[in-house]
Amino acid sequence: MGESITELQALWNRVLRIVKDELNDSRIYDAFIGDSYLISYSNKTMKVVVNSMLAQNILSTKYSASFEKAASNVAGVPVKIVFTQSTGEVNKVKVEEEKPEFFMSSSIKTSLTFDNFVVGPCNKSAQQASLLIASNPGTLYNPLFLYGGSGLGKTHLLHAIANYIKENDPTKRILYCTSDDFISEFISYVRGESDATKLKGFICKHDVLLIDDIQQIAGKEQTEMFFFQVFTKMYNDNKQIVITSDKHPDLLKGFEERLKSRFQAGLTMDIKPPDQQTSVEITKSKIKSSPINLDSFDPEVIEFIASKFSKNIRSIDETTSINPTSHITIEIAQEALASLIMIKDSKTKITEQKIINAVADYYNKTPSQLTGRSRPADIALPRHICMYLIKELLDEPYAKIGMAFSGKDHSTVMSGVKKVEKELKTNTLLQTAVSDIKKILKQ
Ligand code: ADP
Ligand code: MG
Repeated sequence: MGESITELQALWNRVLRIVKDELNDSRIYDAFIGDSYLISYSNKTMKVVVNSMLAQNILSTKYSASFEKAASNVAGVPVKIVFTQSTGEVNKVKVEEEKPEFFMSSSIKTSLTFDNFVVGPCNKSAQQASLLIASNPGTLYNPLFLYGGSGLGKTHLLHAIANYIKENDPTKRILYCTSDDFISEFISYVRGESDATKLKGFICKHDVLLIDDIQQIAGKEQTEMFFFQVFTKMYNDNKQIVITSDKHPDLLKGFEERLKSRFQAGLTMDIKPPDQQTSVEITKSKIKSSPINLDSFDPEVIEFIASKFSKNIRSIDETTSINPTSHITIEIAQEALASLIMIKDSKTKITEQKIINAVADYYNKTPSQLTGRSRPADIALPRHICMYLIKELLDEPYAKIGMAFSGKDHSTVMSGVKKVEKELKTNTLLQTAVSDIKKILKQ
């Protein structure tokens, strides 16, 4: 019969739905059945490709009757099913039509490109290396390892690489993910070997892997081991890998030596804090991409902002919270950025405990109510705000923050922080609360 791939797929999807309902065991379904597909249907026989020898055995014996019953129903005639193992070519068609099942929240930001990345002596080598990799993915240096302090443009470069590759070749499959996403995906999904194989399969079918802030994986043994496997597979397949980190591979603590040496098998580049001239240029470029008109700034204001934030460019983003309609003098800038500047200047003095105390005070709770185990409805928000502020102001790893909250795990803290970040975009009450608490903290 001359069914097209789409028709075969539609037919098989109907069979799968019936079997899935009947089976009612998503682990078995995901491990052995979910990625099966029909390659031919003739002489009342369906030929189905499955993902492994084990799947072939199990499906041909234990589940054969359920499948044949479902298939006969769908086809309207008695059908026999033959399960076989995958063959490269047909597999490709299936892979392309699959929708993402993992890393749903990871995406490439089209606003971060090489065009709007300001180059200075501090980041020139890193920018050149990134551009080189983006124009020849998988062929020159593998991996590219970029390291440097927070806010210096590492994430920006990863997205720039992704956008550049996409522009040159839209068919290239690129996976950008933070190491936090990588950890959560591993922890929440992988229970056994077959889950690991599936997740690994998903990642490795990409042409390019961009993984941000690898230092977060330190000490997470299982995740690290899994990352090592993914890394090795992609490396051997000549898939481009780009990794960022807050420090040089040699200085990463809690990583196996073999992984650290893999990190250095390609090209390792650092980014340094910008000099004054580069900071000024970056500040101008940030303002240009914001709603504020560059002309509203007194010239010395730009210098002032640049000098305050040269060690962490991310903070320049706050500049854009200044009212876009006014003419911006030093005083207005100082006022608008006051809490930020004070916090940065007194960063060493702010501690987890101070943040917890300040939030507790603000919401008329006691610190132990916020850090305790009980979960009354009116505690959730202040608790999440604490986590958010600790992440933002002290940039502690999620797992460490969790320890201050009765040992909450990494992913619980992360989802709390993300909730606040999301709310802050639209909720003006919350914006005020967070900014008031920051002001209290600076005193
Ligand atoms: P990192 O990942 O190193 O912590 P990011 O890439 O998140 O830093 O950079 C923080 C902010 O500063 C982002 O908004 C980014 O666009 C901006 N930025 C950093 N370096 C540059 C640069 N050289 N040119 C333009 N913007 C930059
Ligand atoms: Mg980053």
